[in-house]
Amino acid sequence: MGEAERTNLLDLDRPGMEALIVDMGFKPFHGRNLLKWIHKHGVTDFAQMTDLPKVLRERLAAETRIGLPEIVFEQPSLDGTTKWVLELDDGQRIETVYIPDGDRSTICVSSQVGCALDCSFCSTARQGFNRNLTTAEIIGQVWAATRELGRPPSNVVLMGMGEPLANFDNVVRAMQLMTEDLAYMIARTRVTLSTSGIVPALRRLREASNVSLAVSLHAPDNALRDELVPINRKYPLEELIPACRDYIAGEKRRKITWEYVMLDGVNDSIAHAKALIRLLQGIPSKVNLIPFNPFPGTDYRTSPLERIDAFRQRLIRAGIITITRKTRGDDIDAACGQLVGRVRDRSRRQLREGGTVAGGRA
Ligand code: SAH
Repeated sequence: MGEAERTNLLDLDRPGMEALIVDMGFKPFHGRNLLKWIHKHGVTDFAQMTDLPKVLRERLAAETRIGLPEIVFEQPSLDGTTKWVLELDDGQRIETVYIPDGDRSTICVSSQVGCALDCSFCSTARQGFNRNLTTAEIIGQVWAATRELGRPPSNVVLMGMGEPLANFDNVVRAMQLMTEDLAYMIARTRVTLSTSGIVPALRRLREASNVSLAVSLHAPDNALRDELVPINRKYPLEELIPACRDYIAGEKRRKITWEYVMLDGVNDSIAHAKALIRLLQGIPSKVNLIPFNPFPGTDYRTSPLERIDAFRQRLIRAGIITITRKTRGDDIDAACGQLVGRVRDRSRRQLREGGTVAGGRA
């Protein structure tokens, strides 16, 4: 069987793995053991999986594969943040970021190559949409990070490239593996999905997964949000906000995290803060103010620190937990909204340089 046609075992969650192994004529617990070998122990050589029957190991080696993204580039930052560039089977590249913070270790995972949503302040939007990542490619980022770190991360945020709810099934299956006892065993409250607000998918998510939710709000009214986060034209605030409210309904102590990028002169006035307070009234909330990370070709600027602080104080006075997100890894282009943009720049530069060399020779 050709490599590409074989089932990639990294695509399977626990029920999927059990079904595959039962189909092959073995017991479900062999499927569970296999899951543990791959994800808990990081073993990808079937011969080493000594508690599986030898015949099963041989068939797995002949009929399946364990396909992982390859780390092709590692860039540590001064603040301990590390960016990994991963290459996929088809040569596409994605980025995964590791953010240590005291006892916490957070992995920021990508869900798509590029993104279709076209948020005006996001550099990923500039490269357009390429394709969804498979479950294997999403969980492969956690697999690779776990091997690099020597243990699973304590937290995962789906805040890398792409809109996770636009790749629903693959993202949900990957999150299942993140929280699975036989795999990474990360508490579901420590897995955070960040969405720009695809409302029907958000409503399905609670049944499917029930992880922590972050919503890219960025504006307190439809007119401004239509401009910054164009998916708002399809799912406006009067649909998004109730869906978020319902997501945490009946769950004590749960809060929605609202992401709010601070854009100089665009969404950062006290009037915006007041409107935001009204919008979030009665919803258990945490607001993350994100200083805008500029990238080449953007006209936006980040708000001055004093304005971010005044905005934050206003929210805090209204009883809303508000933090200004630390900009991590900005010296290596690993900060929010910067992922892969530069890698593409790099490859463009390489193309140009390649062209020059060839031209010089001619
Ligand atoms: N598609 C998902 C995940 C995107 S990235 C979503 O929209 O939520 C995670 C966060 O970074 C989002 O809140 C996104 O709006 C924000 N972001 C994007 N570009 C940014 C930039 N240049 N500066 C600061 N934050 C940015």
